[in-house]
Amino acid sequence: MGLFSKNNNDDDDSEEEIEYVLFQGATSGKEANLEENQKLAAAGLPLAKEVVTDALALRAEMFKVEPQGPKALVTFFVDGMKRPGPRLPIQKANALVQILKLLGGGDIKVRDKPQRCGLKAEYRDLPFELTIKTRPAPPAKGPKAPPAEQLTVVFRNTKTKRVVPEDIGMPEVVKSKVRHYGKSNSGIVLIVGPPESGLTTTALCALRCVDSYMYQCYIIGDLGTRTVLNVPVFEQEEGHTLEHTFLRIQRNEGNLVYMAELTDPAVVKDVIQGSTEMTFMSEMYARDAADGITKFVELVGNPALAAEQLRMVVSHKLIRKLCPKCKEAFRPNPKLLAQVGLPEETETLYRKARPPEPDEKTGELPEPCRACDGAGFRARAAVFEMIDVTEGMKAVIAGGGDSAAIRKQAKEEKQLNFQKDALRLVLDGSTGLDELQRTFAPPGGPRRKKKPARRRPPE
Ligand SMILES: [Zn+2]
Repeated sequence: MGLFSKNNNDDDDSEEEIEYVLFQGATSGKEANLEENQKLAAAGLPLAKEVVTDALALRAEMFKVEPQGPKALVTFFVDGMKRPGPRLPIQKANALVQILKLLGGGDIKVRDKPQRCGLKAEYRDLPFELTIKTRPAPPAKGPKAPPAEQLTVVFRNTKTKRVVPEDIGMPEVVKSKVRHYGKSNSGIVLIVGPPESGLTTTALCALRCVDSYMYQCYIIGDLGTRTVLNVPVFEQEEGHTLEHTFLRIQRNEGNLVYMAELTDPAVVKDVIQGSTEMTFMSEMYARDAADGITKFVELVGNPALAAEQLRMVVSHKLIRKLCPKCKEAFRPNPKLLAQVGLPEETETLYRKARPPEPDEKTGELPEPCRACDGAGFRARAAVFEMIDVTEGMKAVIAGGGDSAAIRKQAKEEKQLNFQKDALRLVLDGSTGLDELQRTFAPPGGPRRKKKPARRRPPE
C-alpha cells in the first residue's frame, strides 16, 4: 500500500508493485484543465492517487481530511469504523483537496463555500464513483494562518449495483407498505437515515417497490449518474415555481414524485400542498424514524398538518457483517435466546473470531485472517425500522409528541424496529449479537444506575 506502509527494506524482492487508482474524469463530464494548473497537478496529483489508493485498498467507504493547525489529519472509514491515516502538512493537504476538486469538476477558485462534485475512478478493474465534498475549515489560530478546507470523499462501487429492494434486504412488511402508499395518489413517504449511510440507495430501492409501469413516477432533483428504471427525471422549466412544476406533473398524469433531500421549509410547504393529489417520496437525514418525524413536523411548522399528510417513515442503519472466512459458530444457551427474543429452537449463532493464540513453541502470533485483515468483520448490511402513521400515531404526532412519545407509540403498536429487524441477520449468521449491542447501545455506553443524591447536611 502507499503512504503508511512504505517498504524500506531494499533487499526485499518480494515487494509487490503498487496498483494505483486511475482517475477517469468528472461525473458531470466537465474536463479538468491540468495544463493551466500544472503547479497544482505536480503538488497534488501523486498525493491524491496515493491517498485514494490507500483508501480503496483498505476497502474504505469514505475518507476525511481535517485541518488541525499546521497539519491536516486523514481518517479512513472502513465499515463505519475509523482508521487513522497520515498527518499531512497543511500545504500538502490543501493541494490534495484542490486537485480532487479540479478533477471532479469543482471550482478551485472558490474556497470559502461548501462544494460538492463527483469523480469517476477505476481500481483493480472495478469502477468507482467518488463524491467529493468540501467546506471551509474553522479558521486556525495565528495571524497568518492560510484558509483551509475540510474534505470528505465517499466511494461508491458502481459495479455492485443495489437497485432493487431485495439487493439491500428490505423486509417484506416495509416493501408492501411502501407499495400500498405508493399507489394512493396522496400523502408523503419519508426515507431517513444518517449522513453517508447510503440513504439515496435505500430511498431509490423503496421507490422501486412501486410499480412504475402501472403508476407514473417522476424524479425531481439531481441524482448524479444514478437512474431508476422507467422513472424519468422531470425537467423543471426555468422560472417555474415548484408548485407550477407539480401541476405540470399532474397534467402529465403523474402519480408519484420522488424528491431529493427535504431541508427547506418553503419546499416542504409546496410538497404538503401537492401531496393531496399525488404521493411524494423523499429522503431526509435523521437518526431514526421517530427523529425523522419530529424533523419533518418542524419543517412543516404545523403538527396537525404534518400528521395528516405523512403516511410512513422508513429508516435504515448499517451494521457490520461477520467475516465469512473467520466467523465462529457457537451453540447459544436457551437463556440467551429468550433474552434477545430469538426462537428457542435456534441451534447455531455466529460471533467474531477470538484473537489468535500465540504459537506454543515460537510465541509468534499467527497471520491475521486475510479476508478481513483480522477485524472479524467484512462489509455491512442494512437493517430497517418503519413507522406506519396509524390513527394512533397520527394523534401522537398531531398532539406535538416528541421523538420519545413517537417511539413509545410505535413500540405499543409493535411496529418494526431496528432490533427486531436485526435479529433476521443474526439468525442467518450474517452478524452477531455483540455487533447488535455495539450498534444499538445508548450513546455514551450502557446506562448506569444513578447514584443516590448526597444528603445535604442539616443547616
Ligand atoms: Zn476474517
